[in-house]
Amino acid sequence: MNENFVCKNIGVNEEGHLTFAGQDTVSLAKEYGTPLYLMDEDRIRENMRVYKKAFAENFPEGSEPLFASKACSFAQVYRIALEEGMGIDVVSSGEIYTAMKAGYPLSNAHFHGNNKTDEDIAFAIRNGIGFFVSDNREELDVIDREAQKAGIRQKVLLRLTPGIDTHTYEKINTGLVDSKFGTAIETGQAEEIVKYALTKENIELKGYHCHVGSQVFAEDVFEEAALIMIRFIGHMKDVCGYTAEYLDLGGGYGVRYVAGDGYINIAEKIRSVAETVAKASAEAGVPFPKILMEPGRSIVADAGMTLYTAGSVKRIPGYKNYVSIDGGMTDNPRFALYGSKYTCYNAGKMNEERTLNASLVGRCCESGDIIAEKIDFAQSTCRGDVMAVCTTGAYNYSMASNYNRVARPAMVMLKGGESYIAIRRETLDDLVNLDI
Ligand SMILES: *Cc1c(COP(=O)(O)O)cnc(C)c1O
Repeated sequence: MNENFVCKNIGVNEEGHLTFAGQDTVSLAKEYGTPLYLMDEDRIRENMRVYKKAFAENFPEGSEPLFASKACSFAQVYRIALEEGMGIDVVSSGEIYTAMKAGYPLSNAHFHGNNKTDEDIAFAIRNGIGFFVSDNREELDVIDREAQKAGIRQKVLLRLTPGIDTHTYEKINTGLVDSKFGTAIETGQAEEIVKYALTKENIELKGYHCHVGSQVFAEDVFEEAALIMIRFIGHMKDVCGYTAEYLDLGGGYGVRYVAGDGYINIAEKIRSVAETVAKASAEAGVPFPKILMEPGRSIVADAGMTLYTAGSVKRIPGYKNYVSIDGGMTDNPRFALYGSKYTCYNAGKMNEERTLNASLVGRCCESGDIIAEKIDFAQSTCRGDVMAVCTTGAYNYSMASNYNRVARPAMVMLKGGESYIAIRRETLDDLVNLDI
C-alpha cells in the first residue's frame, strides 16, 4: 500500500506489517513485549546532523545547537549527543545526573528552568555546569553565592520574553509577556535584570535567551524573536555598554504528527534566521552574536514509535468505537495534556481496508486516558493485535508516570537493522522499591 507516512523511517513490508527504521514492528513487539518505546537511533543522529551542519554553514564560530534533553532524557541519548558533538540543555538535577552518569561533560550543558532550588544550583556548580539560563533575581543571588563558594565566575544567560504569540497550543506558548517564563522586554524588567546581573561579581553574563514556544510552524516566529532580541542587545549596549556575546533562540520547531501537519525544512529555516540576525545586527551596530538553539522535539519526535497490544475492542452501534491498549496516558499523556494528535495503525494489518473508526484508549481509570481519536483501523482489529503510534519520541517517555501503578515500558533502540534495549522495562518490584 502506498501511503504518505509522516516520516520516511516508516513503511510496510511484504507481510503487510508496519516497519520502523526498516524493522518489522510486529516482530519487535513479540521479541520485547508491549507497551514498548522504539527509538530510531539513526534518525536521532540524522536530525542532530541537520542542525550541526546548518549551524556550521550559517553562524559564527562558537555557535551551536543544544539538544533540549527534557524531550527525552535517558543515558543513551546523552551518549549519542556526545558522539554527534551536540551540546545539551538540562532542566533538573535528575537530568544533570543522568547526563553525568552517561559520561556527558557538563561543561557543555546549559541548565534551564524557571525555579531551580538552592540544592539544584549548588549541585550544578559543584559538577561544573557550563551555563545557567536564569530569569529571576532570586536565582541570580544564589548562583552568585554558590559560584563564590566554588571560587569561580559562573557563566549565565538571561531568559527574556520577547512578547510573541506563536499561535500554537496555549500551554506550550512561552514567549508572551505574561508567561511564567522569562523577564519581559516590553515592561522594562529585562533591562533591569541585565543591570542587576552585571553587578554580580561571581556571575559572568554571557548573553540572552528566549524560547517562544513549541511545535511552531508559523513562518517567521524565529526571525521575529531574533529581531527583537538583537534590538535589545543594541539597546543594552547603548544604555550601559554591555554587548551580549551569545543569543540563544530556544527550541520549538514543529514536527509532523499527522499527514496534515506541515513540513519544516530546518536547514532553510536556519539560513533565514541567520540572514535576519546579520541584517538586524548591522542595523543595531552590534557584532553578529554567537547563536544557540535548543531543539528538543525536532531531534527525537520522529525517531520514536510506541507499540501496544490491543485488548478489548468495544463497538457502540450508532455512537462510537474504542480500541483499548495495554498502555495509555501513563506512557503518553500528551492527548490528556494538550489534545495532541497522532497517527496510529494496526501494525499487523496494514493491507486491510480501514473501516473501523475508533478512539485508541488506554487502560487507566480516567476517561481522559486517550491516545488518539477518530482513527481508521482495520475492521478485523481484535485482542492481541499490535497497535502502533507514530512520532512518540518526544515528551512521551520523559512525561511517563506510574499512575495506577502501571510499570513504564522498555525503550528499544533501532540502529542499522539491529536492536538493543536502552531502558529496561519496569518491574513490579521497581514499583514498590521506594515504599517503606
Ligand atoms: C522545551 C524547551 C525547549 C525544547 O523545545 P522543543 O519544542 O522540544 O524543541 C527548548 N528550550 C526551552 C527553554 C524549553 O523550555
